[in-house]
Amino acid sequence: MNVVVTGGAGFIGANLCRELSARPGVGRIIALDDLSTGRAGNLEGVDAELVEGSILDAGLLDDVVSSADAVVHLAARPSVPRSLADPFASHEVNATGTVRVLEACRRRGTHLIAASSSSVYGSVSTLPKHEDLPTRPLSPYAASKLAVEAYVLAHGASFGLPVLALRFFNVYGPLQPAGHAYAAVVPAFIDAMLRGAPLTVFGDGLQTRDFTYVGTVVRVLADAALREVTCAGPVNLAFGTRVSLRELIQRLSEVVGGPPPTVHHLAARAGDVRDSQAADDVLRGLFPDVVPVPLEQGLAETVRWF
Ligand code: NAD
Repeated sequence: MNVVVTGGAGFIGANLCRELSARPGVGRIIALDDLSTGRAGNLEGVDAELVEGSILDAGLLDDVVSSADAVVHLAARPSVPRSLADPFASHEVNATGTVRVLEACRRRGTHLIAASSSSVYGSVSTLPKHEDLPTRPLSPYAASKLAVEAYVLAHGASFGLPVLALRFFNVYGPLQPAGHAYAAVVPAFIDAMLRGAPLTVFGDGLQTRDFTYVGTVVRVLADAALREVTCAGPVNLAFGTRVSLRELIQRLSEVVGGPPPTVHHLAARAGDVRDSQAADDVLRGLFPDVVPVPLEQGLAETVRWF
């Protein structure tokens, strides 16, 4: 089976290419990436072909998808703050780009697996977040991700395309970059702790997140591609482990060692949700064999990678 991974040079994409290259039955792996946030170096030592270009380029997409049996669509302009700074750019890459990928898949009936986000639940405060809950995006990023899954599922319903839209929660692990303004919380905290620098927390630190180790996420994605898993509705990709940022800092400082870190609190950011925790019954029904990597182990692997 040949697999195209859009965003394949990014954090999750490159981890997925590595996982796919170790799976029996997988032939050619193509990572299509414009290297806007991804890095060619992420694919070093991985048996995948990097095609540098944009998902907005319909001709290139057609070319790349023509030999694929499955497409895992991860390319996006990620991050809530970036979408607040430039909502149209998020819309163009995330929403319009997804329609382009879908159209390339539709021409050949290619199975498509796409990344949505838990941010689509937005201001809905019910926990755990079940897929049946309403969606109320709080940021342009979340709205664009809701568009991603709506287009994906609509292509399934309208054209019989085999599709799967997965709502990722907070994914962390090796290759996730720190040291830039839009860095995710786990690498940002580890980087600060290793440098002995203060940690910045937006809000009181009691907000909660459902962290998923990237190794678990790519196992699900690879299984989905190999078994052609589809679903008529969106599916959460997280396992219902809710941890506050204060607790995360505590656990990380145990892994990193040394004196307890200093924490600076800044005002809560616009667009950030308060609490997040996935209901995982739909996911477990579709992927009964996947056992999530526990938080302690995932954090230890991530610190080791730094
Ligand atoms: P990432 O930034 O590392 O990966 C995105 C990749 O897409 C990058 O390699 C980037 O260069 C590429 N890209 C951007 N625009 C492109 C374009 N026009 N054409 C081709 N490639 C393009 O981010 P990630 O964390 O690996 O995220 C992967 C996917 O998972 C994204 O769709 C993101 O929205 C989604 N997601 C991630 C998380 C998380 O916690 N990391 C949570 C929810 C959803």
